[in-house]
Parts: sequence; C-alpha cells; structure tokens
Amino acid sequence: MQPDKPAFASSADLGEKTISFDEIGQGVFAYTAEGDPNTGVVIGEDGVLVFDAQATPKMAQTVIDRVRAVTDKPITHVVLSHYHAVRVLGAPAYGARDILCSDAAREMIVERGEQDKASEIGRFPRLFQGAESILPGLTWPTATFTGRASIWLGRREVRLMQIGRGHTAGDIVAWIPDAQVCFAGDLVEYGATPYCGDAHFGDWPATLDRLSELGSAAMVPGRGAALTDATMVAAGIGGTRAFLSDLYAAVKENAAAGRSLRETFERVHATLKPGYGDWVIFEHCLPFNVSRAYDEAKGLDHPRIWTDERDRQMWAELRG
Ligand SMILES: [Zn+2]
Repeated sequence: MQPDKPAFASSADLGEKTISFDEIGQGVFAYTAEGDPNTGVVIGEDGVLVFDAQATPKMAQTVIDRVRAVTDKPITHVVLSHYHAVRVLGAPAYGARDILCSDAAREMIVERGEQDKASEIGRFPRLFQGAESILPGLTWPTATFTGRASIWLGRREVRLMQIGRGHTAGDIVAWIPDAQVCFAGDLVEYGATPYCGDAHFGDWPATLDRLSELGSAAMVPGRGAALTDATMVAAGIGGTRAFLSDLYAAVKENAAAGRSLRETFERVHATLKPGYGDWVIFEHCLPFNVSRAYDEAKGLDHPRIWTDERDRQMWAELRG
C-alpha cells in the first residue's frame, strides 16, 4: 500500500486490543481497550449502570463478563453518552430495565440512525465483531431528558448532565458525586484522536470548561486509558481542547483564504501531524474532521449526514 493512499478509514485496522477493567472509584469501573471505545460501570446498592454499550451484543458480552467478575447485581440501566452506532448497538445485550440518552441524541437516531449504522460498520469493521448479533432496527431509548437527570441505584446517585454540544449535538456526561468520578463519553479522548464528523467546534471548548468545573478525581474518557487522578483528567481535557482549537483554527484560516476542501485538508494534515499523528485513529478521523470543520467554518450549524456512500466519496476526494 502506498503511504499517500491510506486504506479507507479503519478498514485495514485488524489488530486486537488488550482490555482493561479498573476500579477508579469505589464501585466505579473503567472498561478500556487501548483506544477502542470505552465503557463506564457503576455498581449501586441494588443494581448496575453501564455508560456506553459497545458496538454489538457480542462485544457487549465482553463488558458483561467483566461486570460479572465483580458483582452479581442486575444491570438495570444502560446510558448512551450520545448517538454513534459504535457505542450504542450492543445495548440490548445487557437486558437493562432502562436505556437512557438525551432528547437531542434520540432526535439524531430518528434523523440519521440508519445511515450512521451503515457508515460506521463500513469505516471500522473490527469494532463490529458479531455484527450479525445486532438486532434488526435500531437501539431506542426507554427514557430521555434535556438538561439533567438523576438515576438512583438505591441510595447511590448517578447524575446525567447535558453540559453543551461538542462531539455531537446530543452529548451527555455522567457524574457520580460520592466518588467524584466522571464518564465523559467522546467529549474527552486521551491519546486518541477526537472524532469530529458530527461535531460543533464553536461550542465544544465551552462544554469542556463546564466539564473541568466538576473537578473530577477520575474520569473515563471516550477512548484511551482511564484518567485516574486530577492531573490526568486535566491532561485529557487539555489535550482534547488543544486538538480541537488547532484543527478548527487551521481549517478556518484555509477556508477564509478560499482554498478548496482538498487543499484545506492537505494543509491541516501537515499542520497537525507532527503534534497529533501518533494518537490512535488520527488518519481515520482527520478527513471526516476537516470536512465537518470546513462546513462549520462556512456557516453550516447542522452537521450533514454521513452515509456509506458519502464517506467513500469524501475519502476518494481527500485521500484518493
Ligand atoms: Zn461518538
């Protein structure tokens, strides 16, 4: 393969990752996998809450196996940090009483759920192991909210908070007050490239400010290792913020200069590669990220829907 013509998205990424399942607060666990999508777990008095479901029921079973190694309590709640198939379609495997997300995330399922599913499976087949185990149709929440909702696992609170748009229009985070732990979803990545194909670059930094104000003692980012102290939390939030602002500033500058999307991509890639090129899925994300940033820089607030067809046309235009 020629280095200047990388395979589409992550279609050539077949290497298995090592899974970690670490207790980062009392009864609060981080399921991480070297840059693959993470899951957070809270064990309460009478039930277990899972934050982000994994891509397929088969992959969700790897989470369930870890949970079963530490508790026999039923998994009662599955929370979706946002709508992206890779975090959602495993949800039915948990047999939870409730599946929760924001109203805005549910609107994205209605609007673009089917297209997103086909797009994501095409981009990263390794993350959809056992795709045949995905139930027909989409995963639908049983309850939604705007702003804030508290889940009570007995006397233990898990506070779900919508603190602004960022990675998508529907992002929420989970805050476990008695452990001072936050599950950030894809609003924060650590050593992994933030995916921005459905992002709101103008809003994301202020959303990160509100996340910082929580003062988390530990955090599960969307991808990458668990952040197990305040210094690591600050590094995760700060690294994400730096990537976003560097990317968006470079795209805005090129768009304002009248450069085409392809020219913009090539210049932004050259600008970001030295600082961020070793982050997981950098080459996968950057064409999608620059495409969305270019649209937003030109005034398009509502991200265009990615389809399998649009993905491949864009890839051919920027990377072909
Ligand atoms: Zn996502």
